[in-house]
Amino acid sequence: MEELKWGTPGALRTLLCEVVSWKSMTLTVGEREFPSKVQAKLQELAYFKKNPDYLALHDVDLGRSFLTALYKHPEAIDTIVFISHFDTVNTEEYGDLEEFAYQPEKLSKLLLSKMDELPEDAQNDLKSGEYLFGRGTMDMKMGLVMHMGLIEKASVEQWPINLLLLTVPDEEVNSAGMRAAVTKLLELKEVHQLTYKLFLNGEPVFSQEPGDRNYYVYSGSIGKIMPSALFYGKETHVGEPLSGITAPYIASFLTQRMEWNLSLQETVMGETTPLPVTLQQKDLKLEYSTQTPYRTAALYNVFLMERNAEEIMNIFENVAGDAARACNHAYWEVCKSQAVEPIGDVRVVRYEDLQIHAIHKFGRDFVEGVKASINQHTEWDDREKSFRIADTLMIQCQELAPAMVLLFAPPYYPAVNSSEDSLVQQCVDYVKKHALDQFGLPVQQVHYFNGISDLSYVNYQDAGEGWTTFKANTPVWGSYSIPFDVMAELQAPVLNVGPFGKDAHKRTERLHIKSAFEEVPALVEGMIKAIYSSHSGRVVQINS
Ligand SMILES: [Zn+2]
Repeated sequence: MEELKWGTPGALRTLLCEVVSWKSMTLTVGEREFPSKVQAKLQELAYFKKNPDYLALHDVDLGRSFLTALYKHPEAIDTIVFISHFDTVNTEEYGDLEEFAYQPEKLSKLLLSKMDELPEDAQNDLKSGEYLFGRGTMDMKMGLVMHMGLIEKASVEQWPINLLLLTVPDEEVNSAGMRAAVTKLLELKEVHQLTYKLFLNGEPVFSQEPGDRNYYVYSGSIGKIMPSALFYGKETHVGEPLSGITAPYIASFLTQRMEWNLSLQETVMGETTPLPVTLQQKDLKLEYSTQTPYRTAALYNVFLMERNAEEIMNIFENVAGDAARACNHAYWEVCKSQAVEPIGDVRVVRYEDLQIHAIHKFGRDFVEGVKASINQHTEWDDREKSFRIADTLMIQCQELAPAMVLLFAPPYYPAVNSSEDSLVQQCVDYVKKHALDQFGLPVQQVHYFNGISDLSYVNYQDAGEGWTTFKANTPVWGSYSIPFDVMAELQAPVLNVGPFGKDAHKRTERLHIKSAFEEVPALVEGMIKAIYSSHSGRVVQINS
């Protein structure tokens, strides 16, 4: 049998350091170049020399691409999809060590001379020599490297199962990579007659609290959505404040009620979502003047477990209704005390109703034209475009003002969970038992990965109302899209098993060496063997 290139902990460590050295911050040239470097690395394997067609790059956008690598056993149909992202967050926070952020061995040495600048937990880990520091080590190039090692081993040992490695860009910003990849997953499934059994992500373990050294496997991934509002007041001059109503005033009523709103918190299987917070609130009036600001935009972050976009919009609309009533009441009271005639009541309008109103008034072409001209501005991100589209329509439909226009701004990560799936339960049991037996490592199951992941875009479960509401209330739908119908066809359970690390997105990002190069690769290998063994009627418990 041929020798493995990546078959030892040392070889995996060398491979990780090489892969980390290929800088790939989201939306940089490095992100564009990265997947072809992985492709070249995999081309060195005998299997892909023999089967070059099983290795391919596919377009995403902005010159970016994702990579698929298929190991196909001639008799197997069952397929495990390995998912990873290869983009990383930025590195400014490394300061004078920034140039070494991508050189884990060197950085881990250099940090020894900066010991006193580090938090205590990081100091201890650095001194212990058990961690490798660097950008992307933990989040999540090790996940990719582990998948590369497993594909190699499977192809050399001819495991009787198919493995499809998928690695994508843009997870840290909009998940454009994964949203593009789902269509390809469906295509590959048909072309190669694959049956997807499991979507296995390799995101790292995130500590649940500071100093937490527990090892977790995740049988789901938390969802995230951004209900947002455009507040459209009535302009006036500062000398006559009551003959108008300012947008910041209206906004204050909703923001008060959205931030930390308990009705937007979910508890499922003993796990609870973080409360909503305001991500942004800003006036759309661009310069200072004595005309009062009459357009404001606010963006709220909401986490999900079982709810979909439809349910969130209904709750959001109720909260906005309360806010509007309170705002109107306060405004009428002041008008009464000042003996002024009020200009009217603030109303709550869903974006979809604003759009219908605008179509009735001006026709569909007009509305499409507004969107097209705003979408041309590449300097604006999806959030900015969302508000500008709603704002431009409101300028033409001032009969609806004053108003709160409710909409969704991208990105949206649907929640996904497979805790009830029997294959996932067997996998979790396998990892728990063998981690303890082989490594003395206690493992706990978490139902929703709390770091947001690309698993959100597979195994979509929804009768249809959730996604229709999302589409209808997302002004940039079309330029931003989620292939809900394709996602719904990718029905297989999800699981995340990745290496232990700490401080993702911080300058002390670090990876636990033994977890990454020994424990987790062995556990995932054993778990895969258990999966295919149970299907060929052999004993499930294999000692790897
Ligand atoms: Zn990640």
